[in-house]
Amino acid sequence: MSRVWNFSAGPAALPEEVLRQAAEEMLDWHGAGMGVMEMSHRGKEFVAIAEAAEADLRELLAVPANYRILFMQGGAIAENAIIPMNLLGDKVVADYVLTGSWSVKSYKEARKYGQMNVAASAEATGFTAVPAMCDWQLSADPAYVFTCTNETIGGVEYPFEPDLAQIGRGEVPVVADMSSHILSRVIDVSKYGLIFGGAQKNIGPAGLTIVIVREDLLGRAMALCPSAFDYRTVAEAGSMYNTPPTYAIYIAGLVFQWLKRQGGVAAMEARNVAKARLLYDYLDGSGFYESRVDPACRSRMNVPFFLKDESLNDAFLSGAKEAGLVQLKGHKSVGGMRASIYNAMPIEGVAALVDYMKAFAARHG
Ligand code: PMP
Repeated sequence: MSRVWNFSAGPAALPEEVLRQAAEEMLDWHGAGMGVMEMSHRGKEFVAIAEAAEADLRELLAVPANYRILFMQGGAIAENAIIPMNLLGDKVVADYVLTGSWSVKSYKEARKYGQMNVAASAEATGFTAVPAMCDWQLSADPAYVFTCTNETIGGVEYPFEPDLAQIGRGEVPVVADMSSHILSRVIDVSKYGLIFGGAQKNIGPAGLTIVIVREDLLGRAMALCPSAFDYRTVAEAGSMYNTPPTYAIYIAGLVFQWLKRQGGVAAMEARNVAKARLLYDYLDGSGFYESRVDPACRSRMNVPFFLKDESLNDAFLSGAKEAGLVQLKGHKSVGGMRASIYNAMPIEGVAALVDYMKAFAARHG
């Protein structure tokens, strides 16, 4: 068996330890005589797996007691509709901060459900920066302010937490799409009304959506909201209103245990800082490659970069593949290259990429 260094933006690499444990437990989980995929979601074995996963996630992110953790389905794109359906309540307006493809998509979807105001947009920079909070133009009485705190495609990450108290609007709940950097850095959950993300980047398999929601925001869903997507219904049923994505929850739980063994989120953040620094420092000093994102807002998780001579792109990618470095092609809307270096990518993988980039530059420079 030979595993590659996988820089996919998602579904993405998982910790090898987790995959090995899942393989060992595939046919017989802890003497149950069956694998997790075959278990009833209401049986005591699976209920224990789900409860442990939730408790570990709560511990890792220090989620306060007045927040509920929901295991849902539909991915982050479904949340773009589920959020306005649940949070608008008796208000008509919500505010959106546009920092790239994903927040723009969220804004467009939400417009089906109410009046959506663009509070700030980085479009004029080509979505290479995050507008400072002092420039956000919030509306008078928004139901929430929507942010995407790590733009996976553009490689733009908030260098600050969107704490509206700093602009005197602490009463407005902040919603954050953290799909591509949840658990990569320490956050203060109490600054948010709702945090959500698809699992398939930094947590586990596709099919599981994590929602962390403040309790007072439950119970406001529009009458037309599907029951399976009504946060209160899901919370009251302990995320088992409908059959949850059981295997994805199990793998996510193994990833949470792995994260705890790594020292938790703060230890992971220190590693992520070191990984990102290794790659960005090389890019900036190389003269051969470039990053086009404002240095203050560069993502630690998704690193888009360009060869200055773009005619070498195909040669770069085929050479990388031969060297065991895969999924480096940039998103089609951006071009160039992108290396996604989530928690499960060790620094050795980033070092292997930098070594390859150096050798390629030496050959073609
Ligand atoms: N938001 C962000 C920040 C993402 O990275 C993605 C997936 N690339 C999505 C939303 C959409 O997620 P899904 O395909 O799981 O609905």
